[in-house]
Amino acid sequence: MAYIIFTDSPLPEALKQLIHNISLLPWIWENRATKLAFFMLNANENYLKQLRENIMSIKEKTSFCETCWAITDAGKESCNICKNSSRDHTQICIVEEYLDLLTLEQSGWYQGVYHVLWWAISPMNWIFVWDLNFSKLFQRIDDADNKLEIIIATNPNLEGEATSTFFIEEIEKRKLKHKVKITRLSRGLSSGYIEYADTMSLVSALRERKEV
Ligand SMILES: [Zn+2]
Repeated sequence: MAYIIFTDSPLPEALKQLIHNISLLPWIWENRATKLAFFMLNANENYLKQLRENIMSIKEKTSFCETCWAITDAGKESCNICKNSSRDHTQICIVEEYLDLLTLEQSGWYQGVYHVLWWAISPMNWIFVWDLNFSKLFQRIDDADNKLEIIIATNPNLEGEATSTFFIEEIEKRKLKHKVKITRLSRGLSSGYIEYADTMSLVSALRERKEV
């Protein structure tokens, strides 16, 4: 990559720039960035226009659900899951990422609602408790009329553990224990990430969840 972008390679400046921009995307390796740039160079003009418009408007056209903090269409207060009265609103599943929510939804088994934290505690990466979206969750618990089940579905790794421990301790500290039954996914996910778990393992981890 360094050769392609930064030396006297014969590539036109615009292509070097595009390869550089693509290579800044996560999970894109050097060769992949070059291949994608050449794909775009040869792509249909309408496709490129659409791609540009979608990228430019992605932030403007989306927002966060005011209840669970999942992504929703801009201008909507609640996401489709929170709005759905046939879902069990006394069951809240805490996930680190929106992609974890999508994985759980794909499994088709879970019928409760969610709370998306967007991060997991990871001091090594300078992500601390205050960066996570916990305050809204404590507010939801505080405001609930019925006793809730909070299912902790943070990733089965160090960061997920730290996040889960913080939540459990905080429920004690805030004297909210009478308002919630806390459960955790059973340990059966080999990948260390909910996002990559296969449907069968995920459903059995949910089905065999344990009370904390
Ligand atoms: Zn929502």
